Amino acid sequence: MPIARCEFCQDRPRDEFAVSRWTVDPEDRERLTIALCARHLKRVQKGGDRGYEHRGFRYKTGFW
Ligand SMILES: [Zn+2]
Repeated sequence: MPIARCEFCQDRPRDEFAVSRWTVDPEDRERLTIALCARHLKRVQKGGDRGYEHRGFRYKTGFW
């Protein structure tokens, strides 16, 4: 089944990506796979280790 939309906007996602998500402590993170459009993939990658903030969560690419 095709992925309907990006996790952060209404755009069509480029693909699904493995990300880490946390609120305050990056050590206390959740590992999940989310669909991202090209624009948001770039933003998450740009966030680096600090992460990309969205609605109280921070996201970064990869599980580590
Ligand atoms: Zn997006």
